[in-house]
Amino acid sequence: MKEQGFWHENANYIDSVMNKLNTLAADTYIYVLHLKQNKAWFSETAKAYFGINDTYVSDHYEIMRGIVHPDDWWEYEEGIPQRMQGKNLDWELCVRMKAASGEYHMFSIHTDIVTDEKNSEEYLLILLHNENVLPKIDALTDLYSQVRFVADLDATIGNKEPFAVLMIKLERFTNLNIIYGTEFTNQILKETALQLIYMMDEHSAVYRLDGPKFGFILRNCGREKLLTFEQQLRDKLEKGIYVNHRQITLKICAGAILIEQYDGEADSITSKAAYALGHSETEHQGKMIIFNDEVRTSGNVDLDLMKVIHQSVREGCKGFYVEYQPIVDSMTGRIVGAESLVRWRREPYGTVPPGMFIEWMEKDPLMYELGNYVLQTALRETVGIIEIVPDFVINVNVSARQMEREEFRAEVLRILEQTKFPPSHLCLELTERCKDMPFDVIKQEVEFFQGYGIRMAMDDYGTGSASSGIVLNAPMDEIKLDMSFIRGITEDAKKQAMVKSIVNFANSSGMSTCLEGVETEKLQNYLREYRATWFQGYYYSRPIEIGKFWELVRG
Ligand code: C2E
Ligand code: CA
Ligand code: CA
Repeated sequence: MKEQGFWHENANYIDSVMNKLNTLAADTYIYVLHLKQNKAWFSETAKAYFGINDTYVSDHYEIMRGIVHPDDWWEYEEGIPQRMQGKNLDWELCVRMKAASGEYHMFSIHTDIVTDEKNSEEYLLILLHNENVLPKIDALTDLYSQVRFVADLDATIGNKEPFAVLMIKLERFTNLNIIYGTEFTNQILKETALQLIYMMDEHSAVYRLDGPKFGFILRNCGREKLLTFEQQLRDKLEKGIYVNHRQITLKICAGAILIEQYDGEADSITSKAAYALGHSETEHQGKMIIFNDEVRTSGNVDLDLMKVIHQSVREGCKGFYVEYQPIVDSMTGRIVGAESLVRWRREPYGTVPPGMFIEWMEKDPLMYELGNYVLQTALRETVGIIEIVPDFVINVNVSARQMEREEFRAEVLRILEQTKFPPSHLCLELTERCKDMPFDVIKQEVEFFQGYGIRMAMDDYGTGSASSGIVLNAPMDEIKLDMSFIRGITEDAKKQAMVKSIVNFANSSGMSTCLEGVETEKLQNYLREYRATWFQGYYYSRPIEIGKFWELVRG
């Protein structure tokens, strides 16, 4: 059987070479396509990872259709035939693919054509590289990384013994960064890491999480032991570490969770500990908060909901969608843009607004996937509006979890290209919640995106102290004033002075302004005096689904 020659005659050899290659390059999966027919050969590791049953497949597109994310399918379907013809090789193919576990990951696709001299058949060799897989060791501190943290947590859960997870964050780290510069603060992180390693025993392990955060898994650990450990940790860091002969005393905030017996996801534990850490920082001056005691009973977080939402993000953002709220010209009321706002809908919960989940979600690494999903959806759904409203700008909220990832830049450019969305019609909104990032990093990111013509806005301006710092340090294009300044403004002289001075400051610094929370015609008319650029609020429309938004735009 000539047509199957390659597979059959060389099958054993190819199998063993490919599978060796696969194991050499972790997180990389290989398969081979016949150039003339639609046949494919899948390596054992690819089969196991994607849950493919057969090694030889007669219609490869049929199999891949169930694996590639529906939104990215066109890219795969167009890209692979081009590669088979040796065309468009510099177009970087990147698509989301679903693992057998149901989880989507971003894969880059690398290809090359090989010829089987003997049978003069040609094949496309395809190499999939999982772009979401991050290193297991942190390059700066040599501690285990966040990735390893999650893996070890999974293993610990499997042991069915009580354990504790503790997260700490060095306080005022952003300030240290500004005063001493990143090189010095990197030394602080390294030295801290060393001190933490000294404290470990056979039951405990320490990990570098993002920024100035460290995580601990403490096996065989109950409440008493956790409290003692945390006290020792605090004492040690408060006594100070030495960097370049200078003594630096470190204060921490701490969040923890105690696990008796559990067979859920590691993710759910980390987001609870992160949530407790956030509480420690914002509401308890750094005192350790144990999730089980204080947070659950406060009624702020619905554990069930957290778990289900997590799962939804992992399933390719299932159940999430985007609503749009118009942004209008302040003087004419004409729609010149919209803000995209994420929603989640699933029975029996109904439609859940971001207020219920964005706070803890933004502390979670999975926010990266969710944020990118919103960006992609918003651009895809509104690109056509630019034809009707030539100056239309779509505003998309961006979280720190996105900005701080190195791959975010490339991801934004990829989504723009994929949706054919003109960059100058996109505005990224940053909030106070980016304040953990050093100003110079924020500035670099802002300038990078502006280099492509993307606009950058400071959201919720004035609600916290960091937003003015960010605006002073990074060349933002616009400021969005928080609704709290607008509510009751007609009777509040202080709010009036505040809004006036912020709009003046923006005008004289070459920035545009948007006032949020314009709920009535009366308020609109009153606010026109302030000469802000745009208005946004329920008076024009609540956030609505894309179909309705189109109707509104068409008028
Ligand atoms: P935000 O960015 O300040 O968005 C404006 C919020 O104000 C929206 O709430 C909107 O529905 C509400 N709003 C708009 N006009 C009025 C008005 O006239 N009166 C009143 N009372 N409210 C008004 P929403 O959709 O619940 O979003 C809450 C927050 O969730 C957002 O605040 C934003 O910080 C966050 N968020 C929403 N979508 C995303 C997203 O895709 N990514 C990220 N990172 N955060 C998001
Ligand atoms: Ca916003
Ligand atoms: Ca806002």
